[in-house]
Amino acid sequence: GISIAGLGKGFGGAQVLRGVSLGVAAGEFVALLGPSGCGKSTLLRCIAGIERPDSGSIRIGGREVTGLRPSQRDVAMVFQSYALYPHLTVEENVAVPLAMRRLNAAQRLPLIGALLPGTRAARDSITRDVRGAAEALGLGPMLSRRPGQLSGGQRQRVALARAIVRRPAAFLMDEPLSNLDASLRVQTRREIVAIHKAAGVATVYVTHDQSEALTMADRVAVMQAGEILQIAPPAEIYADPQDLRVATFIGSPR
Ligand code: ATP
Ligand code: MG
Repeated sequence: GISIAGLGKGFGGAQVLRGVSLGVAAGEFVALLGPSGCGKSTLLRCIAGIERPDSGSIRIGGREVTGLRPSQRDVAMVFQSYALYPHLTVEENVAVPLAMRRLNAAQRLPLIGALLPGTRAARDSITRDVRGAAEALGLGPMLSRRPGQLSGGQRQRVALARAIVRRPAAFLMDEPLSNLDASLRVQTRREIVAIHKAAGVATVYVTHDQSEALTMADRVAVMQAGEILQIAPPAEIYADPQDLRVATFIGSPR
């Protein structure tokens, strides 16, 4: 799971995160919902280690990671735009994190590492994991295509498959559907929830779309001006908003 306590972050004079605390259990899906500029991406980037908080602490999978680089944290992040390798096939793109992990292992353990790349079992296990992740996202029939031969929705699925293939302890998504058209958005929502369930990973999903948050998440965290105002299951946050700011943003009946 993910455990954040008292996270603060400012840029210049502006305080963007004001003591944010948030716990996400392993296997839980939390949607982080709030208006543009409230600090959603900054919070996600702090969890991923791309941004360094001024104060507070972050634990992932029971480990204190606050000072660690992104590669030292067990996190996967998917953005609005999908950065795929254009010259690699779908299968190769999804395999990149597993290949990188083997390379890292090879650097730590020169002898075993030198032997590993040749072993059939290691290659088979990568192929199995890659195909499993690709199939979960409906990419089975297009493993040998390159990104240029895919639609926008299919590319985003490759990015999602690549993120979950190494089974991270934390899965972070920043408005991953906002570049897709409306009908594809609804379909991809279901697939994201399905892969989240299959992976059983602590997930934070950033969106400013109320209906996405309410339909996908186990709990919704409503954020405004650098603070989490309320965090609760969708039905509760809709029926029983804590104050007028939450009610207004969620669109609750008065
Ligand atoms: P959106 O829904 O538009 O993506 P957001 O909730 O993700 O908004 P953030 O990107 O976290 O918002 O930005 C929060 C505030 O911090 C904004 O006012 C933004 O201009 C500011 N900010 C973010 N990153 C930086 C940076 N690197 N330098 C200076 N200011 C920044
Ligand atoms: Mg953002």
